[in-house]
Amino acid sequence: MKAVRYHGPGQPFGLEEVDRREPEGGEVLVRITASGMCRTELHFKSGLLDLGVAPVTMGHEAVGRIEVVGEGVSPGRADERVIIYYYLGCLECAYCHVGDEHLCPNLRAEYGFISDGGYAEYITVPARNAVPLPAAIPDIEAAPIGCGVTTAVHAAKLAEPEIGEWVVVYGVGGVGFGLVQLARATGARTIAVGRSAAKLDKALELGAEVAVNASEETAAERIRRITGGAGADVVYECVGTEESMKEASGALGRRGRLVFVGYSPDSFTVHPMQLVVFEQKVMGAVGATLNDLYEAVDLVERGVVRTVVDRTLTLEQFESGLNALERGELVGRAVLVPDR
Ligand SMILES: [Zn+2]
Ligand SMILES: [Zn+2]
Repeated sequence: MKAVRYHGPGQPFGLEEVDRREPEGGEVLVRITASGMCRTELHFKSGLLDLGVAPVTMGHEAVGRIEVVGEGVSPGRADERVIIYYYLGCLECAYCHVGDEHLCPNLRAEYGFISDGGYAEYITVPARNAVPLPAAIPDIEAAPIGCGVTTAVHAAKLAEPEIGEWVVVYGVGGVGFGLVQLARATGARTIAVGRSAAKLDKALELGAEVAVNASEETAAERIRRITGGAGADVVYECVGTEESMKEASGALGRRGRLVFVGYSPDSFTVHPMQLVVFEQKVMGAVGATLNDLYEAVDLVERGVVRTVVDRTLTLEQFESGLNALERGELVGRAVLVPDR
């Protein structure tokens, strides 16, 4: 089968012919029909994210149809439409015991990170990692649920925005669009911050109350004005550059929660007095639990969250998708659709 492979930090990805892995006991072979492209792949490519495993097939937002069921898996699952949960924890540690597989220190697999992922024609995973997809969600629209929506669900659970609170979504990409919609569904008031008019328009369409263009105005100042001087209760930092982190932290109000979702090579600096005097919290949110994925699928099925797909590409066109992502041209996800 064809697969887009990572070969180590700073090296280009390659579209290659590789053997697909036949399912062992408890596993299923999934024929991939849609695979979302995430900024994480750019972090692999640049070397910012280096997990020391290569070569490995990229992609952690895979959707497809179960083609082969391994021993011990219900034959009734053959032909089922599924979305992949990309973590496989040890299932024995204290984190796994409470469902926090994304924090497992002994991961057995992480598809698209340390295990072969979704930029391919097939993926082989344990049956429990292949989560059923309702008929109401088409494959291409489902792909961004895998990381984009699940990461938003997980971050929102950590930040706990409340009715009437001011929520800033700094960076309106795959995760940001989900966060805007979840904040609105909570009854919070939402401010989207970005640098692209097209992305900000989409955020407004999805329920943001105000859009702030950070290339035209100082985001923190504007957010202070919008909130009557109080600052934001929650800021989701989906960008993580020196400038965005400064503005995000500057926009944070009393008991504000600053949640890092995105990152870049830059480091975050804050004077502790700000955290002390205003009782602020700074935290990170990574990935999602299996339960978060079930909830994300349900939220999309019920129309609470809509995924945003900018374009579809073939596996052969993966490079143009990554380039568009890097240049900030995509409003929502680029989704790879293997042609056959
Ligand atoms: Zn574990
Ligand atoms: Zn991702």
